[in-house]
Amino acid sequence: MADFDVVVIGGGPGGYNAAIRAGQLGMSVACIEMRETGTFGGTCLNVGCIPSKALLHASELYAAAQTDFEQLGIKTGKLSFDLDQMLKQKDDAVEGLTKGVEYLFKKNKVTGYLGRGEITGKGKVTVHKADGGTEELNAKNIIIATGSEVMPLPNVAIDEEQIVSSTGALKLKSVPKHLVVIGGGVIGLELGSVWRRLGAKVTVVEFLDRILPTMDGEVSKGFQRILKKQGMDFKLKTKVTGVETLKTKVKVSVEPADGGDGEVIEADTVLVAIGRRPVTKGLGLEAVGIETDKRGFIPTDHFKTSADGVYAIGDVTHGPMLAHKAEDEAVACVEVIAGKPGHIDHNLIPGVVYTWPEVANVGKTEEQLKEAGVEYKVGKFPFAANSRAKTNHDTDGFVKVLADARTDRVLGVHMIGTGVGEMIAEAAIVMEFGGSSEDIARTSHPHPTRTEALRQAAMGVEGWTMQA
Ligand SMILES: Cc1cc2nc3c(=O)[nH]c(=O)nc-3n(C[C@H](O)[C@H](O)[C@H](O)COP(=O)(O)OP(=O)(O)OC[C@H]3O[C@@H](n4cnc5c(N)ncnc54)[C@H](O)[C@@H]3O)c2cc1C
Repeated sequence: MADFDVVVIGGGPGGYNAAIRAGQLGMSVACIEMRETGTFGGTCLNVGCIPSKALLHASELYAAAQTDFEQLGIKTGKLSFDLDQMLKQKDDAVEGLTKGVEYLFKKNKVTGYLGRGEITGKGKVTVHKADGGTEELNAKNIIIATGSEVMPLPNVAIDEEQIVSSTGALKLKSVPKHLVVIGGGVIGLELGSVWRRLGAKVTVVEFLDRILPTMDGEVSKGFQRILKKQGMDFKLKTKVTGVETLKTKVKVSVEPADGGDGEVIEADTVLVAIGRRPVTKGLGLEAVGIETDKRGFIPTDHFKTSADGVYAIGDVTHGPMLAHKAEDEAVACVEVIAGKPGHIDHNLIPGVVYTWPEVANVGKTEEQLKEAGVEYKVGKFPFAANSRAKTNHDTDGFVKVLADARTDRVLGVHMIGTGVGEMIAEAAIVMEFGGSSEDIARTSHPHPTRTEALRQAAMGVEGWTMQA
């Protein structure tokens, strides 16, 4: 029986970062992962952030070569793509990064275990290995980082061939003629974009009246317009009532969310992307008296669960289901265990949609500020007036800064545009420091860069935008 200061169950961005930080702080630490591939890295590295971005990158370059190169004076001849190679370079990226976690474990003296981790009592974890064997671990502290899995749609069986989840959509054998995406959230729009760029007709069916429902309303409307211009179809306020699989086709029955006449959409492939749910099955929560909430999440207070010495981080607990949120919680949780002040501000977790153009946000939306009765000022700047965007003939989108009307403190930043996924971290840092729109407006930004759009939008809060 091995003894550890910390046993982490789950090897995703929450789990592996918690293990690494515990190792750095001199604790003895184990990390258990049950993925059938035997790899660490969780959803993010294996079937999430990394493979989706590998396909988004490759398909974006292919689309750019088709639509933008000529204008730049670049001739390519007849363009084509090799799907097998595109999928292989995605797998290479996944392999490189999951191996990287193993290297980091060695470097930080983390003991990795492959198998299902089950809490069997206070300070006790059993590893159930694939060969049927078990190993018992003693843990002064247990961190649950078991993440999330695809949310199924009632009465729709995902076969990962014709009806796929995000995992199947990352390895389709050929480009579907018509892909129906159920769910207008980040994952559906990103993977829908990949296959549209490679030639599929893509129809997004969304129950609500807008895509990206948690984002700022102006951003979600503007973004939908851009995706529509690119050829993506949308059926909003529409609910899926059934999906029937035929030999070579899938029939998706839909009807208006508010009731009315239904219709049937024929597709080759259907992607179910209605969200993700926490994973706690087989984890042994009952052994230490932890109860999940109605939606299956483990409730926590400063990462502590209701059981002494048991913590939970990442997708399995409340907050945005994002890799960097899991990572931030991992660091703060381990620092709390080490007796340090670990804290994160869940309001300042940036969100990014890695389409072309990208969408990025941090802090409050206009809708949230209105609802909370906060008086705010708005500064906006379009990329159409940004010199770098104009030079690159890439002017879709805008930057919007929301600041407190009285104190000028930045409350939210929302962007659509190429590269905004990189730009949003500047806004997050300003907000972490409680900075004002004037702080951004009076900070030197390099010219010509797209970051100047954020500065000009910040100037706009006090009405002195200079370049539009
Ligand atoms: C297609 C897709 C694209 C995404 N893109 C992004 C993105 O661009 N940016 C972003 O921030 N987020 C993205 N996400 C979300 C991101 O992947 C998750 O938020 C993140 O992985 C959560 O980290 P986690 O450590 O909490 O859980 P996970 O990454 O889900 O890891 C949990 C791990 O625990 C293991 N596990 C579960 N139960 C047990 C057990 N009992 N014993 C042992 N192991 C167990 C699981 O096998 C899993 O590997 C994406 C998700 C998907 C599906």
